[in-house]
Amino acid sequence: MSVAVKEAQEFLADHWSPGVNRREWMERVIDEGWAALRWPTEWYGRGLDDDEAKEVEAVFAAAGAPGPGQDIYNLWAGTMIAAGTDELKRQFLRPLLLDQVAMCLLYSEPGAGSDLAGIRTTAVRDGDEWVVNGQKVWTSGARDADYGMLIARTDWDQPKHRGISFFWFPMKQAGVEVRPLRQMTGDARFNEVFITDGRVPEANRLGDLNKGWWVLQTALAYERAVMGVSRRGPGSGGEGATAKSHGRIPTPDLSLVELARSMGRADDHTVRQALMKLHIRRTVNDWNAERSKAVMKAGGSSPLASLGKLSLAQILHFAGRVEATILGMDATLDGDEFPRSRDANYSQQNAYFFSIGGGTDQIQRNIIGERLLGLPKEPEVDRDMPFRQVPVSGRPSAG
Ligand SMILES: Cc1cc2nc3c(=O)[nH]c(=O)nc-3n(C[C@H](O)[C@H](O)[C@H](O)COP(=O)(O)OP(=O)(O)OC[C@H]3O[C@@H](n4cnc5c(N)ncnc54)[C@H](O)[C@@H]3O)c2cc1C
Repeated sequence: MSVAVKEAQEFLADHWSPGVNRREWMERVIDEGWAALRWPTEWYGRGLDDDEAKEVEAVFAAAGAPGPGQDIYNLWAGTMIAAGTDELKRQFLRPLLLDQVAMCLLYSEPGAGSDLAGIRTTAVRDGDEWVVNGQKVWTSGARDADYGMLIARTDWDQPKHRGISFFWFPMKQAGVEVRPLRQMTGDARFNEVFITDGRVPEANRLGDLNKGWWVLQTALAYERAVMGVSRRGPGSGGEGATAKSHGRIPTPDLSLVELARSMGRADDHTVRQALMKLHIRRTVNDWNAERSKAVMKAGGSSPLASLGKLSLAQILHFAGRVEATILGMDATLDGDEFPRSRDANYSQQNAYFFSIGGGTDQIQRNIIGERLLGLPKEPEVDRDMPFRQVPVSGRPSAG
């Protein structure tokens, strides 16, 4: 038995009981280095390698004690540890681990979603601050956010990927206007964000000036890892966490089995085959998530996360269809009087969230093709051009 496992057992024996105050427990877990086992000891971790960390995580899981795993799934804290200055880490890491800072992702713009390197929101240096102007869109959680992870163009004369910087941007300030957008599920969790002369301190920049693209890749890989795992609970951050807080966590297979039983369809061979197919897909996806986790253990990014995200999106679409098949004609009903079919409809519509948010299915396929299968890259005619010269919708850019 490793030293870490022994220490974990002692820690749990001394402090854990199912009735313990949740907040006090999380504070203790974080302060004593159990929440992010693979991180360095000076930053709330224990510096464990992946195998040791998994053993310790298993000890906590067996005791039913929450806490570990934030080094893999906490998008905000993970990005901060990978690219933040020591000062920013001191200020934000603990509150992020305790889920005390509301965050959002200021990436997508009306003309830059899949092609994120095409962003036009601009930051201009003014003494110890940057002045930001531009528009973001589809920003989940922007209304309540304290900070946003912002990508903004800081050099228009560099090619598109190279003139971008990454900021920890304060949301509660004059010059930030948030307007909600309604989704087809009826929810309005994401927003347009208009930034007019918004300010962010130079001290809040993550990574090197004009090298924000690489920080973004780390943050996106965390997000895909979170979105690609089918059996996790809420609270992990990013677009995925918001999807879960929309109402329903994706339906596990067992509740579909129960549904089939209650509808008298458990003996129907098409239903049985569909349930098995769903179970197999989820199981394979879980194995893939394990591989992806192992590759990300060093804090880097892995194209395997794209495979997981794509596969989860397909699973959720399929699960929605299976649910509707089991419900039969009842699936056409909606509203609070028909909670089963209302939830089934919600699931089917919400599955599109996973096919779009965090990078669309098509973009995940491109990543898998290029980085996992080694296929040739898509042609990108504007890749090496100074961004100022990249034409917009057929007209030259004004910059
Ligand atoms: C519910 C939800 C929450 C979101 N939350 C956030 C958030 O918090 N912060 C944030 O910044 N963004 C957020 N997004 C935005 C999301 O990341 C973008 O919608 C996504 O990246 C796609 O960009 P787009 O909508 O501009 O579509 P486009 O990029 O315009 O794509 C349109 C279509 O073209 C396809 N396509 C585009 N380029 C290619 C290509 N090279 N090869 C093949 N097909 C291609 C796409 O797959 C898609 O089908 C959210 C989206 C959703 C749905």
